[in-house]
Amino acid sequence: MLSVIKNAFVKRRGVLIVDDEEINREILASMIGEEYVPYYASNGQEAIAMLEAHSEALCLIMLDINMPVMNGMEFLEWKKKAPSSLRNIPVIVLTSERSLEIESLRNGAIDFIKKPYESSEIIAARVARIVELYETSETILHTSRDAKTGLFTKEYFVFYVSSKGEELKDMDILALQIVNYVIAEEMIGRAKMEEIMSKIGDFLRHQREIYHGLGTLYHENTFLFIGDHRDNYDAFIAELQELLRSTPNGDRIRFKIGVYYRLDTHLEPSILINRAIHSIEPIRNDSINLIHAYDNALHDKIVYQEKLVQGFDYSLEAGQFIAFYQPKYRIDGDKPVLAGAEALVRWRHPEYGMISPGEFIPLFERNALISRLDRAMYAQAAMMIAEVKKTAGIDVPISVNVSRLEIFDPSFTPYLLDIVKKNNIDPSLLHLEITETAFTESTKELVAIVTNLRELGFSIEVDDFGSGYSSLNMIADLPFDILKIDMGFVRNMLRGEKNLNLVHTVIDIAKMMQVQVIAEGVENKEQYDYLKSFGCNYIQGYYFSKPLPKDDFLALALKENQQ
Ligand code: C2E
Ligand code: CA
Ligand code: CA
Repeated sequence: MLSVIKNAFVKRRGVLIVDDEEINREILASMIGEEYVPYYASNGQEAIAMLEAHSEALCLIMLDINMPVMNGMEFLEWKKKAPSSLRNIPVIVLTSERSLEIESLRNGAIDFIKKPYESSEIIAARVARIVELYETSETILHTSRDAKTGLFTKEYFVFYVSSKGEELKDMDILALQIVNYVIAEEMIGRAKMEEIMSKIGDFLRHQREIYHGLGTLYHENTFLFIGDHRDNYDAFIAELQELLRSTPNGDRIRFKIGVYYRLDTHLEPSILINRAIHSIEPIRNDSINLIHAYDNALHDKIVYQEKLVQGFDYSLEAGQFIAFYQPKYRIDGDKPVLAGAEALVRWRHPEYGMISPGEFIPLFERNALISRLDRAMYAQAAMMIAEVKKTAGIDVPISVNVSRLEIFDPSFTPYLLDIVKKNNIDPSLLHLEITETAFTESTKELVAIVTNLRELGFSIEVDDFGSGYSSLNMIADLPFDILKIDMGFVRNMLRGEKNLNLVHTVIDIAKMMQVQVIAEGVENKEQYDYLKSFGCNYIQGYYFSKPLPKDDFLALALKENQQ
């Protein structure tokens, strides 16, 4: 580390002249000026040996292209993959063929000198300019520090990682992230926060003394540290906790750590860094674990999710998102009758087969793709309502899931009206399942939107009722038609009297409020019998049917009508 910085200040004066003809080497040596010390090689292979032996002294390479053994272009190819301490030394190509200029530029050369050579002043000036440029950029890179923490800049961190080459396999990158940084800063104030960040900076600098390496503040809330490999970071964590405890307000700071152990030398620094940062993901909302290591399973998951997101547009166009329909039965009469269905999305993925929404809905919610997917489902559901009417001659309401983000989109209601009109169906047949947790925010605006939808004729179902926090408050304010008891209640109802009473009570409340109740996730006769005896109006669940492909659901509706 120290040697890297030192080199930036000691002016390098060596120029490596690579040419197979001795006379050319001599001419060039005389042209570069007395300031510079010539080193010689007569082909690419010799140049590599010289570069490896004298990289600390060299500030420039002047390279002929046509040479025996290893030509200039091959040398450039090699140099592109060399460790950055060698890679960063600039190259001027010496050539008489214009056609080679572009290719050598692509291979990393930064300038040309045409053969036969121009006047020696021109060449000396060009050499001086390039060396100067190189020195300035190296110096900036090596010395710039981050003002807040006193650590090196992230640009330098990346440069440092790339300069390590093979050594990386015995090193780790650690990402230290402050949880809820913005909120923490608001709570304790900016000045105090800066003090804490600077303390952490000191702490990381101290780590360098033991584990070599180097630290940086990579994002506002994320520090990185690269250093010698260690088997665990217990001591690191303990010391950091101690530091925070002894810093004013430090006890209000929570952090998470991701580590990528024993770095892969074949990867770009940015990938190594991302892997360390991504390793935090699995413990982000975890109250116990502070540290998580990168592993291949995690990597596969990230790649998988990235592929899903990347493939979204195409899949949507190609009609790979298809609605399945899970029947809902009315059970408060003599015998159960088909009374509707819920449209549930399935992804028929060309590579991964049928993917269930649990895998991609949360992902698409994070990436703001969900709204487009939901609309594709609304369109399919509306078409299905029309189709059931046409083939089976009955009105079967179909419900769709509305994600929280979608409701606030100004074009949401117009879109619904549009598909209802296009399919010539009654809006009351299109049920909107809005999950209870959507109602915890922006209640006023939400109530206005939902009230309007009901006035337009749509039916509103409150989905997952009882799974959130605001259940009772919320249903008092909200205009809706059907309460959908969360699957969790149904799953637990046979596990003790309290659970059973709870379901009974929820059904009673719904009756009091004069709305219908539906229980979802009903899997067996016992659950069914209880629910019926409590006066539950509808049931959805494996007890009657799994979600069905379109044609199976159409057949079911047809059969129902004939009975
Ligand atoms: P949800 O709205 O609560 O849907 C009910 C889920 O329970 C469905 O899972 C359904 O297949 C499953 N299920 C139905 N009956 C039973 C049963 O008896 N036992 C058990 N164990 N499970 C049952 P699915 O289709 O995997 O959907 C999962 C969630 O994904 C849905 O939960 C919903 O929140 C979301 N989702 C599905 N389709 C869409 C969509 O088109 N748009 C949006 N935004 N979300 C969707
Ligand atoms: Ca639902
Ligand atoms: Ca649900």
